Amino acid sequence: MGQDPGLRVESARRTVELDFGGYGIGGLSVGESRPEMLAALDVTVPELPADRLRYLMGVGDPVGLVEAVARGVDLFDCVAPTRTARHGTAWTRAGRLSLRAAACARDDRPIDGDCPCPTCGRWSRGYLRHLLLVNEPTALRLVTLHNLAFMFDLVDRIRAAVADGTLEELRAETGAVWGG
Ligand SMILES: [Zn+2]
Repeated sequence: MGQDPGLRVESARRTVELDFGGYGIGGLSVGESRPEMLAALDVTVPELPADRLRYLMGVGDPVGLVEAVARGVDLFDCVAPTRTARHGTAWTRAGRLSLRAAACARDDRPIDGDCPCPTCGRWSRGYLRHLLLVNEPTALRLVTLHNLAFMFDLVDRIRAAVADGTLEELRAETGAVWGG
């Protein structure tokens, strides 16, 4: 973890002196609190040229994504959407949905009725739960497809919100659904 703001700034400045096409921000999302991560971004991102890619390593939860974009980050990578899917949890606009929960046992609805992914087009929550409980590997792939579709949709929404100046509303909405 690199929380020292002075060292963060020095590292960013000395790396920018090397004149790369893009800059990665590492050492975050490794166990520190959300405020600690955002504080590190607050001092680091302004040091990086706005016309170069600014890449935050290891962040991929909805709130982390929106908050980092609001601070100027352009690029991410993260295992969270797919790892979470393999644990049987779907991400939706309404928040997390645990497909292993008993409440899904006889639920004929898709994970998200508005989702264009192949999983939501064909399989119900109840069937996905059955596949998860019998350890059928297909379940992991089907939920992964959905969570990736959710992420693509979220990034599309972030991009549109930046373009039309409504990122603050999307921040508020994302924070309300997913918690800070
Ligand atoms: Zn879906």
